[in-house]
Amino acid sequence: MEDRDAQVLESLRPHQHGNIMDLVAEAGIDVAPWGMRKDGSAVNNPRTNQTYCYEWAFGGDGQPTALCVWHRSLVFSQDLVLYEDSMRQYALKLDRVAIDRSAPSDARSRARAQATRARNFDLLLQHAYRKSEPVRVIILEGKPRSQPDPGWDTSKVRYRALDSEVWYVHSYSDGNGSCRLVRKVPSDRMLTNDDMPPMQPIFVDQFSLPESAGKRESAGFAFVRSPEVRRAVLGRAAGVCECCAALGFKMDKGEIFLETHHVVLLSENGPDMEWNVIALCPNDHRRAHFAEGRAALRNQFIAHLLTIYPAAEDAFRTLLDANSGAAQMP
Ligand SMILES: [Zn+2]
Ligand SMILES: [Zn+2]
Repeated sequence: MEDRDAQVLESLRPHQHGNIMDLVAEAGIDVAPWGMRKDGSAVNNPRTNQTYCYEWAFGGDGQPTALCVWHRSLVFSQDLVLYEDSMRQYALKLDRVAIDRSAPSDARSRARAQATRARNFDLLLQHAYRKSEPVRVIILEGKPRSQPDPGWDTSKVRYRALDSEVWYVHSYSDGNGSCRLVRKVPSDRMLTNDDMPPMQPIFVDQFSLPESAGKRESAGFAFVRSPEVRRAVLGRAAGVCECCAALGFKMDKGEIFLETHHVVLLSENGPDMEWNVIALCPNDHRRAHFAEGRAALRNQFIAHLLTIYPAAEDAFRTLLDANSGAAQMP
């Protein structure tokens, strides 16, 4: 049995130096954008276009989806080839490196870039799951990751190839982003086309508490807070304070508690949008409002949010300019 497991997995090991753009095209994804820079100017060699060639996931948005997966992370179990992981958790691990001021700056910026790639992977995987769409898998082979480095180093990829079979997302956890991909076998969900299972509300914040305990921040004004935004932010944080990386505390029914905080306050016209809301442990939340040096803390939050929502940079700049001439973009 073990021999057969090994054989099945061995047959999937890539031996070609497949170029990533060619494999993405082979998966049926339009690679015309690889010929252009972000500013619209043409690049000499689309295959080395850095906007795309270091990504871990491709397609989506009406195109097929292709995900890069290490060969060594594939598992053979009960006649199925599986891939199980949580790219969302992995992105959080990388965030912790990116905000760690004691880490070398090149490691921090690499971690920041990789966290964005991991989130893109997670997003495309979620879409494929919700739309019950199959995905293509590009299998990578290379040097094992060096341990202290939580990130992927693309230069360590030796071989890569597009798996000829289609894969299916059998499960995806809204709570923590863990997924299960299965080679060749559609999930029952796809066969019966059932609706999504209801989301488990396992992350809660101060506004989920009973009446008396929660509403303090608005102090007289009832600002409107979208439950979807709070839920999305709590899901993004997955129970880990986005400032100090401490795990939120567990409540009676097992929910994990963190507080949601508007980085540019609602009272300062800060928008109630994911990119302006951060999940914090209660201590860091109070610090954000009252501590000496809270302006620096806010800049740290903004820097963190911009790694996830780079497009929010102009909006933050405008908001900070409007609120105080002295405030500086981090
Ligand atoms: Zn904290
Ligand atoms: Zn707050």
